[in-house]
This record gives sequence, C-alpha cells and structure tokens, in this order.
Amino acid sequence: MTPGESPTEQKGQPGLVSAALSGLCPRCGEKTLFAAPAGLAEECSACGLDVLSLERGGRFVGVVTMLLALVLICAALAVDEWLRPPLWASLVFWGALTVGSVIGGLRLYKTMWVYHQYEESQQP
Ligand SMILES: [Zn+2]
Repeated sequence: MTPGESPTEQKGQPGLVSAALSGLCPRCGEKTLFAAPAGLAEECSACGLDVLSLERGGRFVGVVTMLLALVLICAALAVDEWLRPPLWASLVFWGALTVGSVIGGLRLYKTMWVYHQYEESQQP
C-alpha cells in the first residue's frame, strides 16, 4: 500500500471467505464467479474475465473432496461411538453436514485458487 492512494483504488482482497461465500469475481467484484453452488462459471458475465483458464489446477478438487469426506467419516464414527444416536438422526445430520461442507469447502478452495491464479496473471 503506497501513501496517497485513494481508498477506492485499493480494492484488493475483499477477504477470501466472503469472496467464496458470495462468489465474487477477482477482477470486478461482481457475484459472478459461481454458476452452480460449487461450480465455477466459465467466465465473468460482468467483465468477461476468463475464469475457466484461471481454474487450471482444479484437478486437486477431487483430493480436497476426498480429504473432507475422510475427516467427516472419522468424525461421524467418533460421534456414533460416543452418543449412539438413532440411525435416521445420523443419516439426516451427516447427510446435511457432508453436502454443506463439501460445497463450502469446494467454493473456498476454488475461490482461493482462482484468486491466486488471477494475481499470478497480473504479475508482469
Ligand atoms: Zn468480473
């Protein structure tokens, strides 16, 4: 940050978590990054940023999903052992939690990745 810069010019990072939650475009800040709950848009419909080409390396998405699933399965087993909840309660609870955290995790991961790639592409 250099002195004399006006606050409107240093848009910078709006915070990765909020960017992931609202799916903000790294260039224009519009909510255009995601076309599906956990699927990136091909390009920003507001500024035309080529999101698809920034997503290179998205092949790790499978690994992230598997790690998340592994953590959740271990947590589910531990809770099952500890509380012994009825089966239907486990299914409802863990089903919702799995869907929620996989979507949330993927959004965060993809947003971090796209923002990282976008910054790299801005380097001279
Ligand atoms: Zn944009």
